[in-house]
Amino acid sequence: TGLYKCACLKWEEVSIMDEKNIPIRTYQVCNVLEPNQNNWLRTDWIPRSGAQRVYVEVKFTLRDCNSLPGVTGTCKETFNLYYHESNEDRESYIKESSFIKVDTVAADESFTQVDVGDRIMKLNTEVRDVKVTTRKGFYLAFQDVGACIALVSVRVFYKTCPLTVRNLATFPDTITGADTSSLVEVRGSCVNQSEEREEPKMYCGADGEWLVPIGGCLCNPGYEERGGACKACRAGFYKAKSTDPGCAKCPPHSHSLRDGATICDCHAGFFRADTDPPSMACTQPPSAPQQLISVVNETSVVLEWTPPHRLGGRSDTSYSLECLICQTGSHSHTGGRFCAPCGSDVLFSPGQTGLTTTRVVVSELRAHTHYTFIVHARNGVSQASGAGAAQSVSVSVTTNQAAPSPVSSIQATDVTRHSLSLSWQQPDRPNGVILEYEVKFYEKDQRERSYRIMRTFSRSVDVTGLNPLTVYVFHVRARTAAGYGEFSTPFEFSTNSDPFPLIGEGVNSAFLLLSVSGVGILLLISAAVFIISRRRSKYSKTKQDSEEEKHLNPGVKIYVDPFTYEDPDQAIHEFAKEIDVSSIHIEKVIGMGEFGEVCSGRLRVQGKREIYVAIKSLKAGYSDKQRRDFLSEASIMGQFDHPNIIRLEGVVTRCKPLMIITEYMENGSLDAFLRKHDGQFTVIQLVGMLRGIASGMKYLSDMNYVHRDLAARNILVNSNLVCKVSDFGLSRVLEDDPEAATGTYLSPGGKIPIRWTAPEAIAYRKFTTASDVWSYGIVMWEVVSYGERPYWDMNNQDVIKAIEEGYRLPAPMDCPVVLHQLMLDCWERDRAERPTFSQILNMLDKLIRNPGTLRRTGGERYLQYPQAQYWSQGWWSLCEWLQSIGLERYRDTLAAAGYTSLDSLLALTHQVKIKHKTRTKQKQLRL
Ligand code: AMP
Repeated sequence: TGLYKCACLKWEEVSIMDEKNIPIRTYQVCNVLEPNQNNWLRTDWIPRSGAQRVYVEVKFTLRDCNSLPGVTGTCKETFNLYYHESNEDRESYIKESSFIKVDTVAADESFTQVDVGDRIMKLNTEVRDVKVTTRKGFYLAFQDVGACIALVSVRVFYKTCPLTVRNLATFPDTITGADTSSLVEVRGSCVNQSEEREEPKMYCGADGEWLVPIGGCLCNPGYEERGGACKACRAGFYKAKSTDPGCAKCPPHSHSLRDGATICDCHAGFFRADTDPPSMACTQPPSAPQQLISVVNETSVVLEWTPPHRLGGRSDTSYSLECLICQTGSHSHTGGRFCAPCGSDVLFSPGQTGLTTTRVVVSELRAHTHYTFIVHARNGVSQASGAGAAQSVSVSVTTNQAAPSPVSSIQATDVTRHSLSLSWQQPDRPNGVILEYEVKFYEKDQRERSYRIMRTFSRSVDVTGLNPLTVYVFHVRARTAAGYGEFSTPFEFSTNSDPFPLIGEGVNSAFLLLSVSGVGILLLISAAVFIISRRRSKYSKTKQDSEEEKHLNPGVKIYVDPFTYEDPDQAIHEFAKEIDVSSIHIEKVIGMGEFGEVCSGRLRVQGKREIYVAIKSLKAGYSDKQRRDFLSEASIMGQFDHPNIIRLEGVVTRCKPLMIITEYMENGSLDAFLRKHDGQFTVIQLVGMLRGIASGMKYLSDMNYVHRDLAARNILVNSNLVCKVSDFGLSRVLEDDPEAATGTYLSPGGKIPIRWTAPEAIAYRKFTTASDVWSYGIVMWEVVSYGERPYWDMNNQDVIKAIEEGYRLPAPMDCPVVLHQLMLDCWERDRAERPTFSQILNMLDKLIRNPGTLRRTGGERYLQYPQAQYWSQGWWSLCEWLQSIGLERYRDTLAAAGYTSLDSLLALTHQVKIKHKTRTKQKQLRL
């Protein structure tokens, strides 16, 4: 139903039986005897309902012309499918010319006889897709040009990426894009009770498959992920932060009564400190410290106790000490005595508050005085528990009688040849009434071997009978009823040679000693610092040297950066041959380079055969810098000599325009070449190309050259499928480039081909051979996917983000598993983990020698055979091809066996193909 017969009514609606004997309606036409048939059948208007690409599945049967006698020249075995976009849902007449052809459809299976009794019906199913974007709907039409067809069914559909939940974000059912390679960017919305971790995004691919999820959501506090949704934590469980992995059981001494708890409440009598995490058990304040004991030593007291019996489940118990000075009285809360806080001159060691140890020495107390010490224990929840007054234990002590403290300084008030007058201050803590002072002195040279003692009630003394010009050492101590205190430290004074007195303060010998030794130590330290800093700088220099040396591979030629030459012309003449312009014949323009046109032509140098060359010229009106940049590529290229690096023939610098002449690569750049021949090569051929590129890159890395812009667009291909690395323009990477507009070379602070570049090179411009290896992995992907754009049309920012999140390009269609694994190895985040080019080369060689290892793929392309057009004639191409796949050592064996051209080898592959069909795989594998 719904199909219109048009014009000449040659299509007929007929009922037939299908294979299962069920009656079906078909449209049939079979005017095979008459020439120039043009019979049309069209559908109703089909609304496009938002689709941009629709698929038309046609089921039909078709009669084989050979089985019909006398129809030669008039009978056809195809029909044409057309469409016409329209907003009109009831167009009664549409001109033939308004229809656009989708395709000519042929049958896979035609049948030779119509025998209803035998029910031989060979049903063909063909699917075609077409972009419909301009109108609200469309019509389809079938044009018969003289075949014998029965149209059994027409199914029209479009593809969607189905509604899905990924990383807790919902992505709606999304219609795929208009083109087979287009990706539709879709923003997800967080599922109920979740919040965005990072904007959730995914791409809907043309096949209706979701690709590259980025970002996502996290369940809110109190909720956890279960089966792609956020479900409330059950009673007894909680989740405090959205970033917590899931609901957790309430910690000890806490509970949650309702679903969706973000924290558990403490049981009665248990508490949580402000700084306690929700995952910590609820705790209690400590009980009082235990077994407080005191030991009095004159005017000091040592207090010791043991930790509380109950720590409340915490480990942050601390102690503080309260010190009260008490007089006997009736008002006190401490045993009938009146107490007041001790003065600030009392010393506590190691401290008075925040103590984590259980021993304190209290000193500088008054002698003969009553004190009460209270030790408080507290922890993190003492405050929260409301028990602000911490649990405590106390002890009362009375200090002993104590001798006075030492005199702290002595001054000489009068100095003569034979006498010294000294005075001093009362000790800081006399601890009672001072009854007298004792002065002990001796000549410094004598040490204490003989000394004299003088006693005095006052705080001064005149010492007489001394030798002139002699240093004396003095000590003073005080005495109370409790006895003598300690002597003071020594003070030195010298008698005079002069009749005139010298007045000055005593110098503490210890200080003197310290000062002298201090200067010595300072000198020593300076010397040490000097020596160490000298050593350090030597060390770092050595390290640097060794780092630099690490790259220098003895015996291998090292690349020289032409920019290290002050005069660029000197570099170019060192590395490139000047060619006389008369020996060049330009033939045609083949491309556009950064500095001007690229042409192909011929070069005939005297005494050599004529060769095809590519000629790059520098367009007129260039600046000095452009000239230098243009020639730098030749100065770089001229240093290389390898079959997989584009060969420099020479330069023209003596006349204008300036030219760079290189070997001619017939198939141009690799990316365009692969796109043009999508699906036409065998895996071995693709691996052969990759091997060539890896070999060129190994050579460059051995020479210490970092390419920085390795990509399929910068690989050139010659007529024998040999791939060569090109594009050594430094300026391209560092400066403005027309590609910047297309987004290939975008990055802040310089142009970087984002999709091809390793993350460390993007992040902090760390370009190394290892970053070239990353790019090589991308080139592998480009090659195996026949020139697909890496990361399709994702934008650069998304690519960077996806890589950062660990996303890597998936295996292209039919890509052998080993090759994709090698790509993934090249894309290791840690650059030290990536393979070297030499390892890549070995790996590819192994694969080429054992093609069986390439067999595991996701698809069908493996057992295809080389297409004849890429096998050019002759022995040369055979040699070059063998070399490109690393099998040149079989050259003589093949020659001996009579295979002297690629054609003869192709014949062998056909033989093998035939044998393969008869299950003889041996030869194929060996090849
Ligand atoms: P380039 O400036 O090197 O990127 O060259 C621009 C374009 O010219 C390339 O994409 C190639 O298509 C073409 N081309 C450059 N060098 C050669 C060559 N040696 N042989 C053939 N085509 C070339």
